[in-house]
Amino acid sequence: MAPKKTRAQKAESRAGAAPADAVLTGTVIRSGGGFYDVDVPDEEEIIVCALAGVLKKGRRTHAQPVVVGDRVLVRRTLSEGENAQGDRVQEGYIEAVLPRHSALGRSRYGKTTQITLANLDLVVVVLALHEPEFNAHRLDRFLVLAEASELPAAIVLNKSDLATKTEMKKRFAPIIKRYEALGYPVLPVSAETDAGIPQLRELLKDKISAVVGSSGVGKSSLINAVQPGLRLWVGDVMEIGKGRHTTTDVTLHPLDFGGYIADTPGVKTVTLIEPEAVQLPMCFPEMRARSSLCKFNNCSHRHEPGCAVKAAVEAGEIAPERYASYLKMAEDVKK
Ligand code: GDP
Ligand code: ZN
Repeated sequence: MAPKKTRAQKAESRAGAAPADAVLTGTVIRSGGGFYDVDVPDEEEIIVCALAGVLKKGRRTHAQPVVVGDRVLVRRTLSEGENAQGDRVQEGYIEAVLPRHSALGRSRYGKTTQITLANLDLVVVVLALHEPEFNAHRLDRFLVLAEASELPAAIVLNKSDLATKTEMKKRFAPIIKRYEALGYPVLPVSAETDAGIPQLRELLKDKISAVVGSSGVGKSSLINAVQPGLRLWVGDVMEIGKGRHTTTDVTLHPLDFGGYIADTPGVKTVTLIEPEAVQLPMCFPEMRARSSLCKFNNCSHRHEPGCAVKAAVEAGEIAPERYASYLKMAEDVKK
């Protein structure tokens, strides 16, 4: 986090900022008790906002007019105040919410009942090359969660310092190629040596991202390498079959170079949606287009004759490791 500024420094920097009553565009990074913390680029302080009358209960059409991640128009009031942590803050009103392009939330019976995070742009799946040992099936499970939530995913392979050059070439290069061919960006990095960290910043820049992965792969170390001083909770993402759709209070942490990292203090990271059996093939990009070519339109791509997916596996067009992942996950979903 940036070092705290003195009052004089703040007044000086505000001289160049927008006038107190200007309408500003910002991002809601936290909410609670009817107030919303809004981060506005070029403003030194967070603006703590109440809702303007038009967005208030009774007059609004939406159950949740404003959630974390929303882009909002804010009118700053002339007063300054303090937040719960005792930091001096600006105050204002949220006057309008810009359209959301994505929404994650709790859902029941296939219907979203509560949105917990709006406008998430990217799921960053972190795996280590060693310690813990790279596991392609684990990677596939995380990718499927992102696909089921209809969110773009990128793959970050950490601890590249622990792999030899030969191993990089012989073992990992083909894996990287396989996932890139599916449309996922793949980035080998090392939080230890800073290799690939500038590229990781580039990937996160100006986006709202969620970092997921098993414990020990280096999520905290990577976030700290990307922005020294930024320490988040970043727990393990929930896995298929364990507890469903339970997301709580998400906080967004601003990145100095632009963008935000989503964090859920005290609980596991942003929970992504788990696919049902029928949707599982849709969560594999290489199976999506081929499914419509199967003889049976309810083909499970396991044992049916005339299966276009199995034919593609046999022809070497679908990686056997990916198909094996699909079969394993299909088993889990059935249970
Ligand atoms: P998290 O549980 O995913 O947040 O993982 P941590 O960031 O706590 O890292 C787990 C362990 O891996 C720690 O001992 C780190 O020092 C180590 N670690 C993290 N990144 C790297 C890396 O790039 N290379 C090596 N060799 N060790 C790393
Ligand atoms: Zn099929």
